[in-house]
Amino acid sequence: MTDSLLSVRHVRKAFGDHVVLRDVSLEVRPGECVVLIGASGSGKSTLLRCVNLLETVDDGVIELAGEDITDPRVNADSVRSRMGMVFQSYNLFPHLSVVDNITLAQRKVHRRPAAEATEAAHAMLSRVGLADKAKARPDDLSGGQQQRVAIARAMVSSPSLLLLDEVTSALDPTLVGEVLDLLVQLREEGMTMILNTHEMGFAKAVADEVDFLCDGEIAESGPAAAVLDDPQDERTQRFLSRIL
Ligand code: ADP
Ligand code: MG
Repeated sequence: MTDSLLSVRHVRKAFGDHVVLRDVSLEVRPGECVVLIGASGSGKSTLLRCVNLLETVDDGVIELAGEDITDPRVNADSVRSRMGMVFQSYNLFPHLSVVDNITLAQRKVHRRPAAEATEAAHAMLSRVGLADKAKARPDDLSGGQQQRVAIARAMVSSPSLLLLDEVTSALDPTLVGEVLDLLVQLREEGMTMILNTHEMGFAKAVADEVDFLCDGEIAESGPAAAVLDDPQDERTQRFLSRIL
């Protein structure tokens, strides 16, 4: 489909003889938020890691804006610079201030001039509601604030796609709301996102589309309300009845 920002077609990924992704296809259109759900170990993180070229696929194609990024000749760094990835555990550097955490890769990897990188970091911190925390250390912030810094860091290079892997799983339940609010805001601003979560309330609040990963394939896919409230596939029904 030509209107997709990301097109995953018939992707297969195994670790040794353990086939994790057997035949996965999905399309993400610009501005859309796709939420991946599925049991622990179903391959949600592996799929995001394949999209971000942290893993190589065994078969199938992944296209970003029409370009086949699974072609071994592509420059992986340049592809990755067009995506932002955020992990469950924030991965902030504890010895660096918030603003330095955001500018580090900009300066060292992308060779952005320091003044420009700092200006962009402050602008992103305002966007995530943490303008007053630029000089703080990660340890001085709550988990929710640290995750918002990690999201700011992923967004500062103006990626066309944001990949979020269980970004609220490590958070105290009272801190999930602020991260959810931020993702809803980014979606309203038109950011294209794929996120994994095991929190169905979270999925419903932010998803344009929910994809249920099971047995190495997308077993069911559709609008959040359809998949979560009225699942058609028996595997989706079983999964949801276990966790709700
Ligand atoms: P999820 O994110 O849905 O919980 P993962 O994608 O993390 O699932 O893992 C899917 C399966 O792939 C698991 O069985 C996991 O042990 C396995 N796996 C993931 N990464 C590797 C790896 N680098 N080497 C071997 N097995 C892996
Ligand atoms: Mg995972």
